[in-house]
Amino acid sequence: MIEFRQVTKRYDSDHTALAQVNFLIHRGEMVFLTGHSGAGKSTLLKLIMVMERPTAGEVIVGGQRLNQLPRRQIPYLRRHIGVVFQNHQLLFDRTVFDNVAMPLEVMGVPHRDIGRRVRAALDKVGLLRKEKMNPMQLSGGEQQRVGIARAVVNKPPVLLADEPTGNLDPELSADIMNLFARFSQVGVTVLIASHDIALVKAMDRRVLTLDHGRLVTSAPVSSGASHG
Ligand code: ADP
Ligand code: ADP
Repeated sequence: MIEFRQVTKRYDSDHTALAQVNFLIHRGEMVFLTGHSGAGKSTLLKLIMVMERPTAGEVIVGGQRLNQLPRRQIPYLRRHIGVVFQNHQLLFDRTVFDNVAMPLEVMGVPHRDIGRRVRAALDKVGLLRKEKMNPMQLSGGEQQRVGIARAVVNKPPVLLADEPTGNLDPELSADIMNLFARFSQVGVTVLIASHDIALVKAMDRRVLTLDHGRLVTSAPVSSGASHG
């Protein structure tokens, strides 16, 4: 579902953010991306979203070679990729429901379908009863779950998360990770950048580790809980 072939990214001629990175993530797999600050995690996610282009090598998402993707196709690709950020980027001038509905509004989904889709997404994150609230009234963990509902509301086959538990305590962080695991169980390919080593270990999934732009491990999980 997500493949990197000899991918190198330089932002300027002397600084290499990613160097010859190779990996393959299968459909329905849940994989973590770790590494120190500056190791290249965000860059790797941006290449998948085509927010950046590789300097060399090839990124393939859902069978699409992104190098060959014309600029005008980028918005369509992005509809197939749900993204969750650390600071969830919710809008506080509208309800939980309206925040989650935003991607569907942008896509021009008919109004009668929006209510059903938004409630299905809120149900999946356990927030159905809070749809009329303002996100400001919610706890940090609940706000992050609204962000996840928004990311999955159009059922993207790929879900990316950049430090999704960065602001949460360990218990809430585990809840969020278990939520991601449930999406992978229904076939969503999930890639989560996190430097929370303890949490990543506890989840017992494949881990891609970056060190100064190089992929140093791509260890498979040890237990029988592997996917793909
Ligand atoms: P991480 O997410 O692991 O902290 P990043 O992908 O953000 O790492 O950064 C990798 C390297 O690329 C860092 O050295 C960073 O300074 C550099 N970098 C990231 N974005 C840019 C940019 N837009 N322009 C120049 N350098 C950048
Ligand atoms: P409907 O399509 O009627 O709105 P749902 O939104 O509940 O119904 O989704 C139907 C099924 O699709 C769910 O059981 C869910 O597990 C699955 N599914 C497939 N891909 C995704 C995704 N990216 N996010 C959430 N659910 C998904």
